[in-house]
Amino acid sequence: MLNTAISLVTAATVMLSSLGLSGAAQDSGPSDSSVINCVNSAVECPVLTYHNFTQPGDGVKNGPWSCSINKFESDIRTLISSGYSFVSTYELYLALNGRGTLPEKPVLIEFDDGYLTNYTLAFPILKRYNAKADIYVVTDRIDGDHSGLPAFDWDQAREMEQSGLVSIYLHGGSHDDATSFTPEQFRADHLYGWQRIEDELGKRPFRPYVYPGGEYDLSTLAVADACGDDMQFIWAWGWKTGAMDYPVYLRMNVSDTTDPVGQISAYFTFLERVRKKELGKQLP
Ligand SMILES: [Zn+2]
Repeated sequence: MLNTAISLVTAATVMLSSLGLSGAAQDSGPSDSSVINCVNSAVECPVLTYHNFTQPGDGVKNGPWSCSINKFESDIRTLISSGYSFVSTYELYLALNGRGTLPEKPVLIEFDDGYLTNYTLAFPILKRYNAKADIYVVTDRIDGDHSGLPAFDWDQAREMEQSGLVSIYLHGGSHDDATSFTPEQFRADHLYGWQRIEDELGKRPFRPYVYPGGEYDLSTLAVADACGDDMQFIWAWGWKTGAMDYPVYLRMNVSDTTDPVGQISAYFTFLERVRKKELGKQLP
């Protein structure tokens, strides 16, 4: 397995080299032992992910990727009454890198894809409870639609960011599976997406990225890293050998029926499993 991992890393390095990216990759890539991720850091913050939101009468079926807005509000109330504090992705990044601290029971909420209901239904609730959530958008879908559902537009994105409760980051220029691209295509899609976000919303203080469908491999880890991504989010159950060499962070999905506190427990179960595998020990 190790030999396979090494040969894959070597292959990724060769691919990057052919793209003229090898210098950047070597700065923070596979050979860099200073990489900080959710596995080797003592900073712990579970990440809960939502997608679309629904309300009665809108004709959209609830499920893994659509959560009723009443249930979302109930989740926020449950997290608050359970003692959790909402933190931003940037606050987590600063804490991971020793440049800040987190409250005692932090939780990071993320929304994927950029659905219009993030703005129309969830944003009012974030404001009501002074809760933070960061949104990871597909830049090609902004002001269009995603999976047959409308997406918010750049003005709405700006309004949400101006509240101080929401920041917008990248979930892809397109929503294509990152591993379906050649490294060169993935790099182009990725840099295009970041450029669109920064053209519309201004420069980001750092670059966190969420993989579409959670699909990644050693090549995409290396390319995103070489493109300057500071964090790469994957599903908690999707850890792969070789991910330790990158600033990878686990996350859990919250559906219309799952309990957010139960998903936090599940997050730590997955994290403990990865730590045992990678570090040979349990949670500190
Ligand atoms: Zn997505």
